[in-house]
Amino acid sequence: MGTQRSARVLILCDFDGTVCSVDMGNEILNRFTGKGWEEIDRAYCADEIGSRVAYSQVAPLFKGTRSQMLEFVSDKEKLDPHFVGFYVYCREKGVDLKIVSDGLDFYIDAILKRYGLGEIEYFSNAVLFSDHDKMSIAFPQMNEKCEKCGTCKSNILTRYQPSYDMIVYIGDGHSDFCPAQKADLVFAKGILHKKCMEVGKSTIQYGNFQDVHQYFENHFFHGKSDEAVTTILT
Ligand SMILES: [Mg+2]
Repeated sequence: MGTQRSARVLILCDFDGTVCSVDMGNEILNRFTGKGWEEIDRAYCADEIGSRVAYSQVAPLFKGTRSQMLEFVSDKEKLDPHFVGFYVYCREKGVDLKIVSDGLDFYIDAILKRYGLGEIEYFSNAVLFSDHDKMSIAFPQMNEKCEKCGTCKSNILTRYQPSYDMIVYIGDGHSDFCPAQKADLVFAKGILHKKCMEVGKSTIQYGNFQDVHQYFENHFFHGKSDEAVTTILT
């Protein structure tokens, strides 16, 4: 009776295209940088350069103030309509959730706070706004041994591994591929799903957080209020 402890589960979630249905990073780059961005984006999508190089090249092309960008974000953002419900569910079940993003901190922060989700810990690249419509981008979560991504999601996952029994990864893009290889369970859509298929990494294909929520409910909790996530570890 009750000697079995609950499995410690951490969910790592991508932000753009995942928690936020709109890829806000892309929208901002399309709106606030000039033509030069198109070629940088093409090279990034073709895997010729990583996001850290892409951001370094695009930073000088930005033209806009923090408030102009935040106004744009507030008009354009679209949180996955099922994310808040899923997050509340995770809290009830004692499942931790953190956001790992290769996007930019200022809009992640603004969007999370808008939905009362300011308590969610997130890791991302950091924008420093200066005068005269200029900004620079810093990479507090970069991996010095790899020159690819701004935020090394893989490093973050590895850092948390010893503290958890299971790490679930949810994402959709290029920067999610590396951490997805190390996760115990992966929910994938878009490019991430395609790339995982290519290397034979099994994933659960999902459309939005309602699917993820349903999967958790069916496979881990079976509709019971406080059952531990024990079935997944056997
Ligand atoms: Mg994404």
